[in-house]
Amino acid sequence: MPSRSLGPALFTRPKDEPRETLLAEAKEVGMEGMFPSHSDTTVSVVVLGCPEVCWRCGVITTNVVGVAPAGATDPYDLLPFTDDPVKELVAALLDEAARHQAGVGRIRSRWSKTTGSAYVSNGCRRCDALQGDHYIMESIAGIDERTMRELVAVAEAEMSAAGWTELLEACLGV
Ligand SMILES: [Zn+2]
Repeated sequence: MPSRSLGPALFTRPKDEPRETLLAEAKEVGMEGMFPSHSDTTVSVVVLGCPEVCWRCGVITTNVVGVAPAGATDPYDLLPFTDDPVKELVAALLDEAARHQAGVGRIRSRWSKTTGSAYVSNGCRRCDALQGDHYIMESIAGIDERTMRELVAVAEAEMSAAGWTELLEACLGV
């Protein structure tokens, strides 16, 4: 079995690397399972959340950490929320009913003092305080095979196989 330890590094590669190289490396580290087979027309995807304590008001609020193929148990199969294409998908998939039921705050643009800019972010379900991307990245880094199973399924959807492939490629920078 090839090592999967290069998985997360794939998401931080230079954007000008040739597409063939990246796709070949994705396959080497076992990400080929993320790509739909030629016979698939749709892919079931799930938006995953992680309950955390709001730094401002102390309530437990569920932060969206990413999307994955339904049933995924490998943390490397999680496309991180902090990637812009994933944020767009999450915003499109998350309706108000699902959001409230899962205890997720609004996904919207908020000002960050840390970055000195506004970006689409998680927020507290009660007080709407920014749950910043650096904090989400720390949560994601702490997800292992056990805690992957404990994540909250916030929303599920069928995506076209072409749409999912586009998202994977956008996250891989190809
Ligand atoms: Zn709060």
